[in-house]
Amino acid sequence: MSDISLDPEFPAVPSVPYAVREAESEHVCGYAVKHPTSGDIVSNRSFKDGYCEQPLTMLQAEADALAAQMSVKTGVAWVSEVAPCPCPNCGRVIWADDLDFCYPQNRERTLWRAGCNEHDFGCGHELYATTYDEVMNRWNGVSP
Ligand SMILES: [Zn+2]
Repeated sequence: MSDISLDPEFPAVPSVPYAVREAESEHVCGYAVKHPTSGDIVSNRSFKDGYCEQPLTMLQAEADALAAQMSVKTGVAWVSEVAPCPCPNCGRVIWADDLDFCYPQNRERTLWRAGCNEHDFGCGHELYATTYDEVMNRWNGVSP
């Protein structure tokens, strides 16, 4: 963590990254990426090999604004969502559209896991919590 405040009265609020994606899709939700040649911000599902582009991350206010722009531009709803920070154990970057990163451990969805997957050359570090939001907060260092 780079922005830890030295004043214990005013702990720094961590800058949690946000990504922008389609609200829903019949297939895989598109994420906002920068097109490698045009530089335009487009859906990673709108061009060949778009899934090879890392989804953009930004502060929440920018993400909210971009989601609104993308909704107008594409005619379907886009939303902003919390994206994972790099692995707190090994520093590996985890893409916002990495579906294997975080998922429920049971049918009741009362136990959630976030992890740095060894099958993606990660270190195997895992965290657990009772909700999706909580496990993302723990991963991002927002809650202990
Ligand atoms: Zn790791």
